[in-house]
Amino acid sequence: MKLIALPAFSDNYLWLWQQDQMAVVVDPGDAAPVLQALAEQGLTLAAILVTHHHADHVGGVRELHLATGAQVFGPALEEVPAPFSPVMQGDAFDVLGQTVQVLDVPGHTAGHVAYYLPNAQPSPVLFCGDTLFSGGCGRIFEGTPAQMLASLDSLAGLPAHTQVCCAHEYTVSNLRFALAVEPSNAELQTYMAHCQQLRAKGLPTLPAQLGTELQINPFLRARYPDVRHAVALHAGLSALEQTDDVAVFAALREWKNDFR
Ligand code: ZN
Ligand code: FE
Repeated sequence: MKLIALPAFSDNYLWLWQQDQMAVVVDPGDAAPVLQALAEQGLTLAAILVTHHHADHVGGVRELHLATGAQVFGPALEEVPAPFSPVMQGDAFDVLGQTVQVLDVPGHTAGHVAYYLPNAQPSPVLFCGDTLFSGGCGRIFEGTPAQMLASLDSLAGLPAHTQVCCAHEYTVSNLRFALAVEPSNAELQTYMAHCQQLRAKGLPTLPAQLGTELQINPFLRARYPDVRHAVALHAGLSALEQTDDVAVFAALREWKNDFR
């Protein structure tokens, strides 16, 4: 299978996954770039996968569904602007010869789901919407820090060679914050230089490797002593709060919200 990141709006990627002359699109916030890619490459749209209800992820769903008849899959707990098959944790379905497993990852929104393809070649693929970004995570709009931490924990447990397809190109700005949290993390310094080079050439920094994220993403590292210490210092956490994983994670997320 081939993965294509179609740029949309200022920093979204609409992920197109292609198999022979068929394709699946994830989170089409806009129909136009998807219809153009299908036409240019002579592809038939087999399915539309939706991770959560925000407009930049569902804005093109109705038009694409009407234009192609493609089946829509979306989170059981959220609204999607077209007839859709509701899915949740534990569900699995087959599209274009791939098994797609559904993971509940609440936090950014209350019903956010992710789609995991364990048998994709050359390595597993994760479409995680606005839950996990390279070097960061989504803002907590509808859920709680405890939910977001649990969601990120479940993604962090996937195989290290998983290709992480995030819905936004936020990597370099996320890494600026990550370096403020962990200035002496050597892998992080190297990864920042690598991503800056990609962006200078106009290339996406995604998909990211999950194994890399575990080494550089502070939101997957909130239990590491260095991260915990930096957060405690920044937020003035008490000794007791510093031992509370959710309190540390919540303070880390708030730090990022205010970071410029
Ligand atoms: Zn969103
Ligand atoms: Fe988004």
